[in-house]
Amino acid sequence: MGFNSNGRFIASAFFPYEPASRKRLLIDPTYFTSNFDKVGVLRHELGHAIGFRHEHIRSNAPLVCQGEDLTGTINLTQYDPKSVMHYFCGGMGNIKLEITEIDKNGSQSVYGKPTNN
Ligand SMILES: [Zn+2]
Repeated sequence: MGFNSNGRFIASAFFPYEPASRKRLLIDPTYFTSNFDKVGVLRHELGHAIGFRHEHIRSNAPLVCQGEDLTGTINLTQYDPKSVMHYFCGGMGNIKLEITEIDKNGSQSVYGKPTNN
């Protein structure tokens, strides 16, 4: 059966603490027509699946971008306006949703360095 959020979002993931029944990556039909980089959107959603919140909700981000509950969040790095976890908003963000060096540092502070060298 197809999924449709009626345009509320183009894709939606889950956080690691959520129950198995919620662990689904939902792709809205608008995903296929949006201007966002398709692979970038999936990079962003997989960031949520490994526990990362939105970069643009931090206090240093443009006010227009904020508005999500910060409960339980931890700042792993300095604010990164080009983060893969930053929506394109307030003149900041990265429509390609690419992983930056700051993203890598933050991820490695939680998960360690890659082991496949
Ligand atoms: Zn997101």
